[in-house]
Amino acid sequence: ATPMSIQVGVGRGARGGVLIKNAEALERFEKVDTLVVDKTGTLTEGKPHVVSLEPAAGIDDAQLLQLAGSLERGSEHPLAEAIVGAAQERDVVLSDASDFEAVTGMGVTGRVEGRDLALGNARLLKTRGVEMAEWAQRAEALQSEGKTVMFLVADAQVMGLIGVADPIKETTPQAIRSLKEGGLRLVMLTGDNRATAEAVARQLGIDEIEADVLPEDKGRIVREHREAGRVVAMAGDGVNDAPALAEADVGIAMGTGTDVAIQSAGVTLVRGDLAGIARSRHLSRRVMRNIR
Ligand code: ADP
Ligand code: MG
Repeated sequence: ATPMSIQVGVGRGARGGVLIKNAEALERFEKVDTLVVDKTGTLTEGKPHVVSLEPAAGIDDAQLLQLAGSLERGSEHPLAEAIVGAAQERDVVLSDASDFEAVTGMGVTGRVEGRDLALGNARLLKTRGVEMAEWAQRAEALQSEGKTVMFLVADAQVMGLIGVADPIKETTPQAIRSLKEGGLRLVMLTGDNRATAEAVARQLGIDEIEADVLPEDKGRIVREHREAGRVVAMAGDGVNDAPALAEADVGIAMGTGTDVAIQSAGVTLVRGDLAGIARSRHLSRRVMRNIR
């Protein structure tokens, strides 16, 4: 390999908003046949906002937000920010929470105003033995529109659900189309539930989905695709994605994402625009053709 061509390639990438950390990343890109892509913050904006409040009988929207927001103040998850933000927008006064705990991939628990609270997904309800009953159908309706649903439980009873939307980035549909046209196999990876994931994937024309994935399993999924003989690029933005980025043949971080993700990746898309992946593949082909 002539270092010169690679230098030129890296420089050209940088001008187009694609930072390539090392020669290997540029060389390998050409052989990539599978792109595993995180949903939240990579395909979507990663800034969810509350779009629906469905309180149980006997409480209103503000009370639902008050309990949920008080609990979520202890969490740094984007979903927590959405809930606390919605409470503040409506001038809901939050209380202090105690015994706060984040349950990875599921939600949060703690005590607020003497009540035992849990807020999170269906899996969290299941681990706490809470019956979803009629709430399951309401959740499905929101999830089929691509929304993420969180259930609030107080003393083992569902107090309501909160639906959040995280819009698809403006640049994503076109980028996905050109990656598919380039013959890449696309796999969407998410900690979100299957129904929500499917709705988002459908909008983008992505057929393969790995949903309900716990953070510690993201790396394993990338490894499985590699063991099946594929050359895998992984694109992600979160702390959760770092092991999977490191596990991939080419790790691709969103420049808009966390530092941990950027450090674990060989390639950074400065503006967080996935179109940079298609450009990097072309660049890699050109550079490698020059070298051979
Ligand atoms: P991702 O970032 O891919 O959505 P996570 O593992 O962070 O994956 O979260 C998976 C799911 O766990 C979320 O979709 C949500 O249902 C639930 N969850 C995680 N953190 C919280 C939180 N702070 N509040 C409510 N629900 C949460
Ligand atoms: Mg993410």
